Amino acid sequence: MNRMLALSCLVFVLLLENCSFTPTFHYAGYSDLVFLPPAGQNPSRCYLPENYVPDTNHLDHLPVKYIRVNLHFMNSADSSANFTQPEADSVAHRIMYYANAGLERNMKMFLPLGNDTPVLPVRYRYRLTGRPGVPGDKGVYCHFDDSMFYYIHKGPGQNLYDRRPVRTYGVQLDTVLNIFLMPNRPEGDDPPEPTMPVGVALGNAIKIGGIGPAPHPPWNYKGVINHEVGHIYGLRHAWHTNDGCADTPPNPNCWNFTHDGSECDSLVSNNLMDYNSRQEAITPGQIGTVHSQMARLTSRGRRYLEPRWCKLDPEKTIRIRDSTVWNGARDLEGELVIEPGGYLRLRCRVSLPGNARIIVAGGGTLELDGCHLHNACGDQWDGILLQQTASKQGRLLVRQKPVIEHALHPVDWPATTP
Ligand SMILES: [Zn+2]
Repeated sequence: MNRMLALSCLVFVLLLENCSFTPTFHYAGYSDLVFLPPAGQNPSRCYLPENYVPDTNHLDHLPVKYIRVNLHFMNSADSSANFTQPEADSVAHRIMYYANAGLERNMKMFLPLGNDTPVLPVRYRYRLTGRPGVPGDKGVYCHFDDSMFYYIHKGPGQNLYDRRPVRTYGVQLDTVLNIFLMPNRPEGDDPPEPTMPVGVALGNAIKIGGIGPAPHPPWNYKGVINHEVGHIYGLRHAWHTNDGCADTPPNPNCWNFTHDGSECDSLVSNNLMDYNSRQEAITPGQIGTVHSQMARLTSRGRRYLEPRWCKLDPEKTIRIRDSTVWNGARDLEGELVIEPGGYLRLRCRVSLPGNARIIVAGGGTLELDGCHLHNACGDQWDGILLQQTASKQGRLLVRQKPVIEHALHPVDWPATTP
């Protein structure tokens, strides 16, 4: 009899749990907030590179960024000095394939000797981008102009800083990074030009020379493109100065191993931002520098990124299940869910895509610590939803007052409260 009673009670409790306490949701209001003592926050810390180093346990917290690029094949008027279409289209795609492969296959640093510098995914790639609405525009252009088709890196007639090709032939300069592939000077001039591709970053464009008379294979542009794009996103040469990255040691800048008893027997760098035959290693500090530039709303490099954070992607929901602090800005492409037991502290800018919600499940906690919640595209996101279950509500803590913009359901913060 007692056993029957106990069983009945258990069934009743299960029914109660399953039927009577359907979880509910409501948009967070001022009465939901729980205030914590302030901890102090320096907003300038939000853009320190160290806050953008990919977390290998949570790679999705730093979405992959796509840099829009186009390629210009500069040519002589008689079209003899460079590729012409349609071959240029094919070569351009192969060049970008190898440049992307170089980013994908980040390698371990050679220096300092015996280092244990982690090898992390770089989380950015290139996308050839044509003009929207222009049929057949693949972002590959050929120009025939005897007055400015060639590139001289050093010596008499040096023209690497000459911006005329950019001004004359640039396409979508505000939103696409223009890369100019330029032949060596016409034959017969001295001194000879480098036999490897060389380049220069000019802020809104990149010029790459050293092409011809026989063109390099497409993979040979990987190092120079990735190096010059590194400059665009704030990376400096690593070998001789303080480049701001603790994991890129000064070095003799050897091109390759010499096997001649010199320091280039061993102290050869393979870092992207040194001059060497490999340019294959990008350190955590360098990755953080690039992403901190990409996150700055005012940086020029950000304008070249595909704004994938504007439109809500249901596949890109981020679920927080442990304790996490975001000390850097984030441009999210999906919704943000703090699961039961999860704790997320926001200290910087977070952009939510259009119509996206932040959902704090019962037993989950969101802490707003002087953060800035908005939609970086001038669109509207939804708001913060708190879940109430039978036993727990999603918690919303405030350590320092946030700025909440562009929300359809903003937290109704009284104007007179701190
Ligand atoms: Zn350089």
